[in-house]
Amino acid sequence: MSGIDLSGKIALVTGASRGIGAVVACRLAEAGAKVGVNYHASADAAKMVVSSITDSGGEAFLVGGDVSQEEAAESAIKQTVEHWGNIDILVNNAGINKDRLLMRMTPDDFDSVMDVNLRGAFLCCKYVIPHLIKQRSGRVINMSSVVGLSGNPGQANYAAAKAGLIGLTKAVAREVASRNVTVNALAPGYITTGMVDELTEDTQAKILANIPMGRFGTPEDVAESVVFLCSDGASYITGQVLTIDGGMIA
Ligand code: NAP
Repeated sequence: MSGIDLSGKIALVTGASRGIGAVVACRLAEAGAKVGVNYHASADAAKMVVSSITDSGGEAFLVGGDVSQEEAAESAIKQTVEHWGNIDILVNNAGINKDRLLMRMTPDDFDSVMDVNLRGAFLCCKYVIPHLIKQRSGRVINMSSVVGLSGNPGQANYAAAKAGLIGLTKAVAREVASRNVTVNALAPGYITTGMVDELTEDTQAKILANIPMGRFGTPEDVAESVVFLCSDGASYITGQVLTIDGGMIA
């Protein structure tokens, strides 16, 4: 635990029904922020995240919606502002992957991965930025991936979306820097969530051999970086990509 105090801050975390997003939402709430827990398909899981936060004395509410759809993204920001009266932090975490070698990848596989990972983040940025500019403070954190920096066979769609998120981060960071709004990206390596659990033991062993720290990352490793980037101590950091990968692409 970092001891960072985010009391009074209002956050929306997209894709917070499970995996990294769920832990990010809980960790932000633990630091004192009020949190909108966005989900698309997993309503019951998202309700459990909200209950877990409120049972621990934190404040959270459910925000359903597919972030790749403009109306839903706009509504997620609007619902957060209406519910808490404001918004300070957006974590664009929602993501999917549809891995296939390029020659077998269909245009639909490409488009759907771009739509959730990149278009969804663009849309949420588009609708949150006016609020952050108006109040002359705010934090946006985009969940990229080491794959967006290094590429990975079988993930042309995912790597393109995650690299696109880095471009989006840097461009928007420059647009809003003078208004005291920071925009940064996180690039996690292999983090123990559903995405990593799906890999065979053999593949996991091969990956571990390339991680200098000799372990997969945890959602908590990522959540701590989110909390740091939301803190006052990170107020002069913008347009950056923070890699959280145990040294894998160092
Ligand atoms: P995960 O366990 O599969 O969870 C994905 C989350 O995204 C779920 O909450 C899911 O919600 C949500 N989501 C999917 N499509 C959505 C949509 N259209 N609208 C709103 N929410 C949507 O994934 P994870 O491993 O925690 O990954 C979280 C983020 O970190 C992703 O952006 C991923 O690319 C990135 N990342 C993960 C790793 C890793 O090793 N795990 C590494 C690098 C980067 P529903 O189930 O409710 O639809």
